[in-house]
Amino acid sequence: MSKKYACSVCLENCKTGCIYCEICQSWLHYSCQNIDKAESKDWTGTPLGYICIVCRSCDDGSFDFLMGTERLKKAAKLGLKMLKIAVNRETLFLKSQPVENTLHSDFSSHKQDHVANIFLNHYHANTKAALRSTGDGDCPFNAISTCLVGDESMSVELRFRCCVEMINNKNKILRHKLYPRLVLISPDYDKDYVDCTKPGSYSSV
Ligand SMILES: [Zn+2]
Ligand SMILES: [Zn+2]
Repeated sequence: MSKKYACSVCLENCKTGCIYCEICQSWLHYSCQNIDKAESKDWTGTPLGYICIVCRSCDDGSFDFLMGTERLKKAAKLGLKMLKIAVNRETLFLKSQPVENTLHSDFSSHKQDHVANIFLNHYHANTKAALRSTGDGDCPFNAISTCLVGDESMSVELRFRCCVEMINNKNKILRHKLYPRLVLISPDYDKDYVDCTKPGSYSSV
């Protein structure tokens, strides 16, 4: 007899303790999704549906940050309230997605930006060197990614996490002692985190 609600991970029938994936449209056991009892409560009654581990991952099994950013972009089009709801869901996904990258330290063979180096020298920062990053609209994230991991591979993840962090910690960031200076560069906080949901687009964040 075929199992009507077979969990797509263990293939056993789903009777209790299960959650529905809105992408592959199948039921899965909480335990097969690494969701413990306390977390399962977070998922009941959330306005947006669940997305299973396979459906939110790249082929290599890592979290698909580009897809996550697209989800946020779609939500942002429906307004800030919907974006916040979407960020709540992504925050639950990120619980099992800690930042695990190894920090890069040897920049001696990196390409430098010679024009920027002239400015650095001019302002007496000649002990520093400006590294090159791709100016494709993702430049702030490309630059931070280069500083952290030595290349631009973390850029999409940074854009995604930036939006999530800015929404989840808005009050804390607005009260930060350096915020009055940040306003000079980034005058509209809400616009900045919405910009983070648009890959390849300029963000003053
Ligand atoms: Zn299962
Ligand atoms: Zn799925």
